[in-house]
Amino acid sequence: VSSSSKALEVDCLVIGAGPVGLFQVFELGLVGVHAHVIDALPAPGGQCLALYPDKPIYDIPATPACTGRELVARLLQQAAPFNPSFHFNQQVLSVQPQPDGQFAVHTSAGTAFVTKTIVIAAGVGAFVPRRLPLDGLAAFEDHQVFHQPPEDVTNLTNQRVVIVGDGDLALECALAITQSGAARSVTLMHRRDEFKAAPAVIEVIQQLRTTGQLRFLAAQITGLVTTTERIIALQVVTTDGAASTLELDTLFVLMGLAPKLGPIAEWGLDMARKQLAVNTAQFESSTPGIFAVGDVNTYPGKKKLIVCGFHEATLAAYGVAQRVFPGQTIPFEYTTTSPRLHRALGRVT
Ligand SMILES: Cc1cc2nc3c(=O)[nH]c(=O)nc-3n(C[C@H](O)[C@H](O)[C@H](O)COP(=O)(O)OP(=O)(O)OC[C@H]3O[C@@H](n4cnc5c(N)ncnc54)[C@H](O)[C@@H]3O)c2cc1C
Repeated sequence: VSSSSKALEVDCLVIGAGPVGLFQVFELGLVGVHAHVIDALPAPGGQCLALYPDKPIYDIPATPACTGRELVARLLQQAAPFNPSFHFNQQVLSVQPQPDGQFAVHTSAGTAFVTKTIVIAAGVGAFVPRRLPLDGLAAFEDHQVFHQPPEDVTNLTNQRVVIVGDGDLALECALAITQSGAARSVTLMHRRDEFKAAPAVIEVIQQLRTTGQLRFLAAQITGLVTTTERIIALQVVTTDGAASTLELDTLFVLMGLAPKLGPIAEWGLDMARKQLAVNTAQFESSTPGIFAVGDVNTYPGKKKLIVCGFHEATLAAYGVAQRVFPGQTIPFEYTTTSPRLHRALGRVT
């Protein structure tokens, strides 16, 4: 698809709202570039929020300790004066260079952009729900198979519900459906009788198992029993090796998120071992106008650390500004002493 009249025309598109993408927004703001930010997740934070929200990080400069969640909150606060436009819940699928030097970008939600520059801050890839590797399952997605907990449990009235997973999301979903009393039956399934959720949640789940309100099945799903329109049952093998079937109406697959580099590898950019090759002057990729910062890039000496991504974002911002404001000198100024930056940051002296 080429750029359409409905495409949003922007100066810079940041792909990825992880810590480095968020700091990129701030650095772009300092050089006068407004950023649009796209992420596959429903909220900003990347790995810090998706993988370790409550674990402390000790190597952010001048911050002896902060959790992943705190770091993200501070980065958002720092970038707020520059009013980034966020586009969540969508994966960037295609990036196509246009004859005029711009790029046409399309997302899984159907959003289209025409942008002068792109900064890929995609980390280890888009975080998408882990899927069960079962032939034919995809055809039932969004009808009987879901990768998010239900928004309204009353939609499950009288249904036999199966939830697959061992983490907080799966257990909390099982809990909410059981406690609502809407479903005819609730079965929580995981390959082992062990959970990786908060102790308090596990405790309530165990109580519901004891009272028989919730069934737990330690088993793996090996196949589906279907008609053309519906899944009737799951074929399962329990931990003792016995095969059986489990009838159901609705299946929630809540096995956590997995990063998928996915389409980025198909955008025609030079890569080295699944990372985007960049120069270290401006962290520009092999395509002029497309920059890559943070965990997604590689160059001699690269370390996948947040602090390194912050440096990369700082220099990439100058590269972006050179393209957005061609022929203009990009001012180098200190935030401490520049009245222009004080105005931009809303801290007029
Ligand atoms: C358990 C753990 C502990 C860690 N501790 C530390 C530490 O103490 N110190 C430290 O410096 N680092 C630490 N790290 C590493 C640090 O988290 C990463 O270096 C950092 O998150 C990289 O940031 P990023 O913004 O480049 O990418 P990410 O945080 O991976 O964010 C990338 C974002 O891009 C999105 N995305 C990707 N592709 C697409 C697409 N096509 N469309 C839309 N969105 C897309 C993803 O959904 C994701 O939200 C730790 C990592 C882990 C897993």
